[in-house]
Amino acid sequence: MDVRPWYSLEGKRIWVAGHAGMVGSALIRRLATVRAEILTASRDILDLRDQAAVHRWIGDHRPHAIFVAAARVGGIEANRTRPAEFLYDNVMIAANVIHAAAEAGVEKLMFLGSSCFYPREADQPVREASMLMGAFEPTNEWYAVAKVVAVKLCQAYRRQHGKDFIAVVPTNLFGPADNFDLSSGHVIPALIRRMHESKLNGLDGIALWGTGKPLREFLYVDDAADALVFLMERYSEEAIINVAGTEEVSIAGLAAQIAAITGYRGQIHFDTSKPDGMPRKVLDASRIRALGWRPVITLQEGLERTYEWFRSQASLDHPYSRGT
Ligand code: GDP
Repeated sequence: MDVRPWYSLEGKRIWVAGHAGMVGSALIRRLATVRAEILTASRDILDLRDQAAVHRWIGDHRPHAIFVAAARVGGIEANRTRPAEFLYDNVMIAANVIHAAAEAGVEKLMFLGSSCFYPREADQPVREASMLMGAFEPTNEWYAVAKVVAVKLCQAYRRQHGKDFIAVVPTNLFGPADNFDLSSGHVIPALIRRMHESKLNGLDGIALWGTGKPLREFLYVDDAADALVFLMERYSEEAIINVAGTEEVSIAGLAAQIAAITGYRGQIHFDTSKPDGMPRKVLDASRIRALGWRPVITLQEGLERTYEWFRSQASLDHPYSRGT
């Protein structure tokens, strides 16, 4: 597949945009093993939606490589109810960083797309070629449109200006520093928190959104960060590439697994007034496997580590619901 030589990160100045988020912080952990200078810019110093500020920051700091892990993110309900934020913020972040990176002569840029931009009716497991081959899942179309725009920007700058900008598509990720807010977070942090709190408060019923039937695959964020570094160094193509996960599981099965880990023994009700989203979302792993990468952390192990992290935050009397 890849004809360019490896792009070594050794000795480079690497900007992790979005370093405080779940993926960004996992990237920082992974990059600690690389002999490189890591750049970060916190939200109060740099608003990525501000074009002039982004140009100035990149011009001043001159990164060689950029991971664009910054985004306005949230689960199914946040996407559905805050369309303007999901569309505007994500388009602006991507357009500003990608354009400024091109102007500043950044050597390599990786943009993180999202599996939710694949068509709702795509054949499963979803191949990269399915992008834009059908209508989006309506509950996340605003986010999906923004992420597709960003992928297209990477491709356009590669075609028109020869930039080594790549776009990858992670599957559903989870792990430390996820968003544990009950209304805006994804399913794993929401269930961990609900079950943990119900257990502590002696409640014997929690609600699970939808029917419990949808199928998902998940990837622990440290595995994902490892894949991102791997692809940054070895992948250089216009085509997007899936960062696929491990086992496929139903939402009801996932809930049972989380109940066992958290020690929650109460009832689980299905709240069918809440949407299911895509009936099945699993990524085709052939391309990344062919390059030689595969995940090593099982869903069970990842869930255990995430619960451990969550408990360490909860015991600090720390607001673990960051919101998005
Ligand atoms: P999605 O893959 O974009 O749909 O991401 P989510 O993690 O938000 O949702 C995955 C599935 O879990 C959907 O079928 C949801 O309806 C279901 N689900 C069950 N309970 C919850 C919950 O408390 N929060 C979220 N976000 N999803 C839940």
